[in-house]
Amino acid sequence: MSVAPGAFAVATGGQVVSTVASLIAASGVGASEGAILAAAALGRTREWLLAHDLDPLEDGAASGLVALLELRRSGLPVAYILGEREFHGLPFQVSRDVLIPRPETELLVDLAIAAAGHCGVRILDLGTGSGAIAITLAHRLTLAEVTAVDASAHALRQAARNAQRIGVQVQFVLSDWYEALSAQRFDLIVSNPPYIARADLHLKAGDLRYEPQLALVSGEDGLDALRKVIGGAPAHLQPGGRLLVEHGYDQGAAVRALFAQAGFTEALTTRDLAGVERACSAVWFGGSVR
Ligand code: GLN
Repeated sequence: MSVAPGAFAVATGGQVVSTVASLIAASGVGASEGAILAAAALGRTREWLLAHDLDPLEDGAASGLVALLELRRSGLPVAYILGEREFHGLPFQVSRDVLIPRPETELLVDLAIAAAGHCGVRILDLGTGSGAIAITLAHRLTLAEVTAVDASAHALRQAARNAQRIGVQVQFVLSDWYEALSAQRFDLIVSNPPYIARADLHLKAGDLRYEPQLALVSGEDGLDALRKVIGGAPAHLQPGGRLLVEHGYDQGAAVRALFAQAGFTEALTTRDLAGVERACSAVWFGGSVR
């Protein structure tokens, strides 16, 4: 910690005290992220803080909060500072080995739940990372049999810990996309693969700087992983099975073309809450596997 609590102190009634509000305001961290960090530092709920953010803080509590605010100010994402991020109402542990689960990916999960129905479907999640998609599906679709693969052993360990904490069964497989799955076929394949182009400037700003490149970057046009995921799907889907992928804001047309090339008909694009084309899905009706 490079800034002492005293540096953020305010004077009230002649006495110099730090409060949650004064420390957050002085830190330059946004109010809502500051409140999340304060709740964690003090072991309180955000609701409690609303009523107590002007209470004087003891030195230990103040320095604990300042330490977290300093980490955030240095750029580290809140999810990595706390080691946790909520996704679809479930708490996921996230280390720097895995992508931080995004709200827009909840769309993929909602679409997968709708597609799976409530029968005993076999589901495959490709590039599971923290396990957010696979574990949420296993939690919501209690009759489904969920397999999740990742090329990173570190990510798989994190995902397995999350499955255990949340209390669901997922079969985790170390695999570069479909490679270790031999001839297994599934009723539903889902994936939020890396889809950012190597030269995209977003990679050099904000939280993305701290996330694993393996989970973000995919070749010159950002479509390398989507080519593999979509191209390989027919060999791993049951006839009548569905592939559902997340993609970048400007990749809708390219992804529909990849579905068509792989022999899928009627690929359907769904927009996220921001109105951006975000997910694409189609049923595999069988036929020759290229
Ligand atoms: N949606 C993420 C972003 O643009 C990228 C995640 C991914 O590549 N799958 O920040």
